[in-house]
Amino acid sequence: QAKVAGKNCHRFYSRAMDLAVERRVNLEHELRGAWERGELSLVYQPVYRLADRTLVGAEALLRWNHPVHGQVAPSVFIDVAEQSGLIETLGPRVLRAACLEAMHWQKLQPRGAPLSVAVNVSSRQLRHGGELAQIVADCLRETGLEPSRLHLELTETAVLGDEVHASQMLARLRETGVKVLLDDFGTGFSGLSHLRRVPVDGVKIDRSFIADILRDPDDLALTSAIIAMARSLGITVIAEGVEKAGQYALLRERGCDQAQGYWLGAPLPAGEFRALLSGVR
Ligand code: C2E
Ligand code: MG
Ligand code: MG
Ligand code: MG
Repeated sequence: QAKVAGKNCHRFYSRAMDLAVERRVNLEHELRGAWERGELSLVYQPVYRLADRTLVGAEALLRWNHPVHGQVAPSVFIDVAEQSGLIETLGPRVLRAACLEAMHWQKLQPRGAPLSVAVNVSSRQLRHGGELAQIVADCLRETGLEPSRLHLELTETAVLGDEVHASQMLARLRETGVKVLLDDFGTGFSGLSHLRRVPVDGVKIDRSFIADILRDPDDLALTSAIIAMARSLGITVIAEGVEKAGQYALLRERGCDQAQGYWLGAPLPAGEFRALLSGVR
C-alpha cells in the first residue's frame, strides 16, 4: 500500500516539476522575440531629492505584456533572461532605450536641472565586464546623453562575488563617466565595511528595510547606519519603497539624500512620465 502511494507521490512531483520546467522553457521561447513584437517596454519611476522634494531623475524598469498571460513579473522574466543568456541582447536594448528617453526629458523642462536615468544591470552582464564598459561607451556616444546622467544599478551580490575583479570592472565602467549605484543594499552579506573597498557613487537601501522603519527600531538603526556610512564616504544614499509620508519625513531627518516609492510616484509609461515633466500631470 505504502509503496503504491509512494509511487503515486513520486509521479505527482515529477509531473509538477515537468510543468514548471515546461512553463519556463515556454517563457524563454516567448521572451526570445518579445522585444521585436513590441511586448516589452520601459516604465519610469520618479526619484526625488528628500531635502526639497525636487525631481532628480527616474529609474527605468522593464515590463513584459505577454499576449496570453498579461503582465509577467520582472522577478520572473528577468530571471529567465539571465539564465538563458537573453539578457545579453536585452540589456543593451534597454540601456539604449532609456538613454534615448532621457534625451527627451531636457527639452520638456529646459530650465530644470538635468535629470538622471537609472538602468538596472544584471550580474550576467557584469561578468563580461570589458564588454559592458564598451557597450555603455557606445551607447553614450550614439545617444549623446551626458555620461553623468546615466546611473547603472548593480546588485550588491553581483559586485561582491569577486572583490578584485569587481573593483576593476567598476573602475572601467566609471571611466566612461557614468555613475554606479549598489542596488538592494543591505540584503547581501557584505556589511558596511565593504563600501570602503568598492568604488561606487551611491547605494540604494533595499525597500525591505524601509518598510518597517516607523515600527522596527532595528530596521531604523540599520537604515540610519547605512545613511551615516554613505555620507561619511561622500556617496549618495537613496531609499527605495517609500510608501508613507512618515517614512519620507524620517528618512529626510536622518539625512538620506534621495528617495523613490509609491508614496512619491509609481513607475509610469514613458508618455506619462513626459507629461509629468511638462507639468500636465
Ligand atoms: P529594483 O531595481 O530594486 O527595482 C525596484 C522595484 O521596486 C521595482 O519592481 C518597483 O516597481 C518596485 N517599487 C517601487 N516603489 C515601490 C514601493 O513603494 N513599494 C513596493 N512594494 N515596491 C516598489 P519591479 O519593477 O517589479 O522590478 C523588480 C526587479 O526586477 C528590479 O528591482 C530589478 O532588480 C529587476 N529589473 C527590472 N527591470 C530591469 C531591467 O531592465 N534590467 C534588469 N537587469 N533588471 C531589471
Ligand atoms: Mg533598481
Ligand atoms: Mg532595488
Ligand atoms: Mg529589488
